Amino acid sequence: MKMFDRVFLDMDDVLNRFTMPALAHVGCPVSRYNFDKFPVECGYDIIRAANSFSGSEGDQFYDQERDQFFNRHEFWTLFGEDFWVNLPVSSEMIHFIDWTVTAVGLKNVYILTSATGAAGCLEGKRKWVMKNLGSNWLGRLITCKDKFVCANKHSILIDDSQANVDKFRDHGGHAIMVPRPWNPLRGNNAEKHVRCELLRMLRIDS
Ligand SMILES: [Mg+2]
Repeated sequence: MKMFDRVFLDMDDVLNRFTMPALAHVGCPVSRYNFDKFPVECGYDIIRAANSFSGSEGDQFYDQERDQFFNRHEFWTLFGEDFWVNLPVSSEMIHFIDWTVTAVGLKNVYILTSATGAAGCLEGKRKWVMKNLGSNWLGRLITCKDKFVCANKHSILIDDSQANVDKFRDHGGHAIMVPRPWNPLRGNNAEKHVRCELLRMLRIDS
């Protein structure tokens, strides 16, 4: 029996570009297509990152244009179905799909993503999958906040969140963290890092 027989791919900021388009969407002066202006000191906290551009602090997002505060729940209502459907693919998506499908077969690769709970998110994500990966992948989409429930000694999670990676490992799974400016692997080449980690894991397996 193979040691690794299942891969779970995160969607936001792994298969797509999410954080920078989201910051641009709420009025931050950043490019949707590069990480240059991401405030690395904010880590994996998008409200803190968004607020850093207006100089405001605290747990609520301050919308400069509307001069209005949004709490964490309300923040996500700013992102409707169109936002989720139209997120650009990441520069690594095609490789992540290709490598993992080659390694364990399409029937063993799943997209594991968390939905915000706000209207339009789930439907937008489904449509994004249909648009960018096709109908074969619709049935491979799992939405769940607690990704660790999919962890076992045969599974690998590929994700950009340190917390998700840590919890998945704590629950007996294996994980590869995708280097992004908001996690400790910032500065590493994401494509190379994931490729090396995947090969290392599969080598153990052969
Ligand atoms: Mg993510």
